[in-house]
Formats: sequence, C-alpha cells, structure tokens
Amino acid sequence: MAKSIQAIRGMHDIVPEQAPLWHHLEKAVERTLTAYGYQEIRMPIVEKTELFKRSIGEVTDIVEKEMYTFEDRNGDSLTLRPEGTACCVRAGIEHGLLYNQVQRLWYVGPMFRHERPQKGRYRQFHQIGVETFGMSGPEIEAELIFICARIWKALGLRNIELQINTLGTSVERAAYRQHLVEYLQGHRDSLDEDSLRRLDSNPLRILDSKNPAMQELIESAPKLGDHLGQVSKAHFGQLQQLLDNAGIGYQVNPRLVRGLDYYSHTVFEWITDQLGAQGTVCAGGRYDSLVEQLGGKPSNACGFAMGEERLVALLEEQGVQIDDDRPQVYFINAGEQAQAMALELAEQLRSGNADLRLLLNCGGGSLKAQMKRADKSGAALAIILGDRELQQSEVSLKYLRSDLPQQTVPMAGLSSHINELIGKGII
Ligand code: ATP
Ligand code: MG
Repeated sequence: MAKSIQAIRGMHDIVPEQAPLWHHLEKAVERTLTAYGYQEIRMPIVEKTELFKRSIGEVTDIVEKEMYTFEDRNGDSLTLRPEGTACCVRAGIEHGLLYNQVQRLWYVGPMFRHERPQKGRYRQFHQIGVETFGMSGPEIEAELIFICARIWKALGLRNIELQINTLGTSVERAAYRQHLVEYLQGHRDSLDEDSLRRLDSNPLRILDSKNPAMQELIESAPKLGDHLGQVSKAHFGQLQQLLDNAGIGYQVNPRLVRGLDYYSHTVFEWITDQLGAQGTVCAGGRYDSLVEQLGGKPSNACGFAMGEERLVALLEEQGVQIDDDRPQVYFINAGEQAQAMALELAEQLRSGNADLRLLLNCGGGSLKAQMKRADKSGAALAIILGDRELQQSEVSLKYLRSDLPQQTVPMAGLSSHINELIGKGII
C-alpha cells in the first residue's frame, strides 16, 4: 500500500465531529452581525504581496517572518493572506465602497502565518473579521465592543475580559516613541534578543513582550497615555463613558499596543485565562490611516478580528451545550420496492417540514444492520419500511431514545404524525 500523505504541520482538518461547534460559533456571529446591520464581504485568499507590506508594515513580525509568499507562474509575488483587514480595505477601495460612505462589513475565513505551531497558534487558522468605515467617533468603537459582548452571550461563553487602550494619533505616537527609545537604550543590558531587534524598527512592540524577565523594565517604561493631547484623551474618555453606560466591564491596559502598524486611537482585546498562553480571542481597534496608505481617499476605519480556533477551544473548555445537529429520524427500508417507496416518503416528509433532520438508509443492508446504523446515527426515531408494511401501505415506528412502544402509522398520515412528535418534543 502506498504511504498516506499527511496534512501540513500547523494546518488542520475540521472533522465532522467538530463541525457542530464551528456552526454554533458562525451562526451566532452571522445572526448578531446581521441584527446590527453588517453585510458580508468575501475576498480572495491570495493577494499581491505588496498589499501586506504596505498595510501591515515591513518591520512587523508578520511581514518579516510569518508570511507564505511565493511566485506564481507569471513571476508575480503573491501571499496567502495573513489577516483580512488589508484585503477588505483593498476590496473596498477597488469597488468604491469607502469614499464618502459609511460601511459595516464582515467576513470569515482562513488566514495563514508561518508561526511556531502550538496550542491556540496554527499556520492556517480562521478569523471572523469585522470592519467599519466612515465613522470617526467613539460610538462606533463602542458598538463593535457591544457586538463582541453580545456574541459571547449568544455563544454561552463566560470569563472573557475586555482590555482597552489608546494609541493616540501617529504624531503623538512618534513623540512618545522617542521617549521610549531613550528609556530602553538606557537599559540596553536588560533587553532580550527580540527587543534589541525591535528597538530600532518597532520599539512599541517591546511593550507587548511576554518574556517574564522583561516585565519589570516594561512596567517602569514611560507611558503613552502621558504623551497624549486633549483630543485623543477626550476620545478615549468618551469611549469609556459609553462602556460604563452599557455596564460593560473593562480594564485600561497601557501596555496594549497591538502587533500591527496601522492602529491609532482605540485598541482593544478580549482575553480569557482559560486557554493558557494563547488567551486573546479577539483583537481590534481604530486604523484611520490605512485606507489612504493603500491608495484610497482618507476614510475613518475601525474593526476587530476573532480567532475561531481559540473560541472553539473555549466552548469545549467551558463545556457549552450546543444545539444537536444529529438526525432526528433514521429511515430503514428493506427490499428494492420498499427502497423506492422510502425515497418517495422521505421527500414527502422533507416537504412537510424543511427543518426535519432525516437520514435515509441507502445501499441496502439487513434490517438488523440498518437498525444498528440508526442507533449509531443518534436519531430518536427509526421509521421501518419492510415488505409487510409496504403491503399494508403503512410504516412501523420504533423509538430509540424512549420506551414508547413500537407502533404502525399509515403512510398517508406519516408527515403530520412526525410533526406531531416533534411538537411534543418526543423527537
Ligand atoms: P497574538 O498576539 O496571539 O499573536 P496577534 O496580535 O498576532 O495575536 P491578530 O493579528 O490581531 O493577532 O489576530 C486576531 C486574532 O486572531 C487573535 O486575537 C487570535 O485570536 C487569532 N490568531 C492570530 N494568530 C493566530 C494563529 N497563528 N493561530 C490561531 N489564531 C490566531
Ligand atoms: Mg501574532
């Protein structure tokens, strides 16, 4: 036998057993976002490499070491998207969706980063992204945060804490950067290798370091908040007021800087302590300069991205009960004629109830073997159509999850009988 081929390290199949959790997540997201008036957008998975270099920034971890970049057959440099914001902005500019308009968009799909695979960190992972355009005030930031809170609630998730911070304007950040670099240079000996590398290229990222040995140094570093102007401070103050009004708890974390270059003003993360080191399940903020940076007319923008793998892991960790999507009914049939009739009846049942989860036995098998399959399918009811039933124009019903006695029902009344059983909660 030929040796089987395995999936690529850090890239995972989502097997049928896991699918209900993903559906639970994506359905709650779609329902909530639709209720808030957001529209879905779908972008290609591959983009020109230039797009990410220009948006995320040349000196970020993503662009420096994590992108899947390759030449296609024409010699163009292409990249598997490492995130969706740049793609969404590119699409928005290209289709004239952004200039002088208000947009609320969302998307879901795979992203690719060549990171070291570990729990909660993969090379292909999935994000739900939400992006808004044309709104400058803190109220849209509050709305984004409300949406997240409502999604956690709809999912049945607990124990996800909100952290917020402000990065001010790019001018304020540049001034702060100088202070920070001066301070860090004074403590060069205490910097780890990563931080030394970032000192010139992206010093703010040093504040984000997870290295325990660096924490004291970071704690005493100058704070960006002390270098903000009145406008930035007022903006951030208003956001906090809106969150207070809504009763949403949060922590201001001055060290929250986010990994990507394009953020300004508000940034936020939703974090849980139940997933180990990879505890950020959602991250976002304002990125007013990106649209112009990518060649569009200036437009305010803010959004967030959720990591689906981490949310699914949290649903599992918290043992959240989700809707059963196993079949309600398994249709057993024996013999050629019975099979043809079963196929017909099954279609009638489906016409009579579009939500009915019915599995029709195909491919034959003895009644005993089919009964085993019915049991394994998780169905609550087996419909049995054998020679005897066929002759009488009826079917037998066998209850698999309760001790109700087996019964027979005329074919003509089957559809309404099934709907009655559903109405009574029996199946
Ligand atoms: P981290 O600090 O965990 O590396 P990040 O700042 O790189 O996260 P973003 O680019 O903001 O993450 O992506 C938003 C969300 O997508 C993250 O909060 C996380 O939930 C998820 N995510 C990011 N990278 C990965 C990955 N490699 N595997 C799984 N999920 C990821
Ligand atoms: Mg990262």
